Amino acid sequence: MLDSIRLRLTLWYTVVLALVIGILCSAAYFIFWRNAVKRTDANLAELAESFLVTLRAELEDQNGTDVFQSAAQVAMDEHHFRDTLYAIADQSGKVILTSLETPSANPPSRAARKVLASDSFQSFLAASSRSDRLFSHIPVTEAGYRGYAQHFAARGKTYILMILQSLHPQNQMMAEAGSVFAWLIPIAILLASGGGYFLARKSLAPVVAMSSQAGRIGAANLHERLAVQNEKDELGHLARSFNGLLDRLGESFDRQRRFMADASHELRTPVAILRGESEVALSQQARSSEEYRESLSVLHHEAERLTRIVEDLFTLTRADAGQYPLQHSDFYLDELIAECVHSARTLAQAKKISLTFEGAPESPIHADESLLRRMLLNLLDNAIKYTPECGRITVACQRNGKEYGVSISDTGSGIPAELRPRIFERFFRVDKARSRSENDGGGAGLGLAISRWIAEAHLGRLELTRSDSTGSTFTAYLPADSEPAASLS
Ligand code: ADP
Repeated sequence: MLDSIRLRLTLWYTVVLALVIGILCSAAYFIFWRNAVKRTDANLAELAESFLVTLRAELEDQNGTDVFQSAAQVAMDEHHFRDTLYAIADQSGKVILTSLETPSANPPSRAARKVLASDSFQSFLAASSRSDRLFSHIPVTEAGYRGYAQHFAARGKTYILMILQSLHPQNQMMAEAGSVFAWLIPIAILLASGGGYFLARKSLAPVVAMSSQAGRIGAANLHERLAVQNEKDELGHLARSFNGLLDRLGESFDRQRRFMADASHELRTPVAILRGESEVALSQQARSSEEYRESLSVLHHEAERLTRIVEDLFTLTRADAGQYPLQHSDFYLDELIAECVHSARTLAQAKKISLTFEGAPESPIHADESLLRRMLLNLLDNAIKYTPECGRITVACQRNGKEYGVSISDTGSGIPAELRPRIFERFFRVDKARSRSENDGGGAGLGLAISRWIAEAHLGRLELTRSDSTGSTFTAYLPADSEPAASLS
């Protein structure tokens, strides 16, 4: 049941609200009660003042030695109120007169007698003889009494005046407030939790709509997007992020699809040649060994081409998955370049191309030697392939600060400006027909993609730094000091 966010939110909201209302009501109840007691205390002090004024006036009016009792009785009668009791004690703490003995209290109520005879009153009396002014609670009945004691002097003697006021009315008022709270709080919580549920439902409705929309999106309709209702709010942000993810997934799917289509297209040609050639060889019964050799050499050539494409594809797939382990070692880059130039020389000579390495100072590097060799041979191979006979290829290696720049310049026809940004794409060839017809080693358009990956796997980069009608220059920048990346996806 609590699996729904709506319900959980409502529950949390209700619990927090109940707590807040509970705390607020308790605080209000307490403040209310304290104010009531304060008001009672102020009344009692005022009553004591006016009682003493009357008492003093009576004492002045009456003559005689033992007039105190009668003057006090008159004052008590004059200030007689319901639920109010008076008591006067002498200095020793002995009660000499109470309002029970006044004519207005005749006959005195049982409750009043009980109060003045109670232990609580005795303790109040004992406490009042110790302090000049004292307010105290006397828990004698259910509601209790508020007691005020004050010392005063009359006719040369000190007395203690005690006034007790029943807290029954205050108690009743508080009980009424309590009962109002008791039915008001549950109703408020019920209404608020209903409102909370409605709000949670309303604010989560777009999420529900989004999740059902997202549930409908699959590989077949990856172009569909979530509706963004309000761009600026959190849900709009979520929808935009999700749409961004779909965009990236869509692009990745498209790339994969293109890659698969291009790969199968590239593989189809050598496979068709293999099949055709072998069928022809098998269909003719009497063939000279010369003819068989010729067929086998075509088969061998195509098989080699197939192997190269499959190996390149495998390298790129592993690189994409970040699973191509780099074998780091320390070696000299200038020596590796010289070695690669030496290997490519035979190929260059066949086209009467002059291939020179300008030489470089010692260039120590920590990298994967076989991958860098593959990159350099790819670039040299391309330079030879796309440079006409009697051309010139120059290889240079320079250190600029913390990186080496290895450049391979040729005097080929260059790459058209509009196609330059695409030459590093997989299976991209400037002139597909030409690459094939020249039978130049079966370039499938993967060489530069792999070379760029190799440079990037070493935290470097491969760029086409010049290409015009006089030729092209490819430059690989490789960090001289830093550790290469373990692998690159
Ligand atoms: P390929 O196997 O076809 O050589 P690459 O990825 O190595 O594939 O190169 C992609 C394309 O870039 C080539 O088909 C070619 O058109 C162009 N290219 C590469 N290197 C050169 C170069 N040195 N001069 C002119 N064009 C080049």
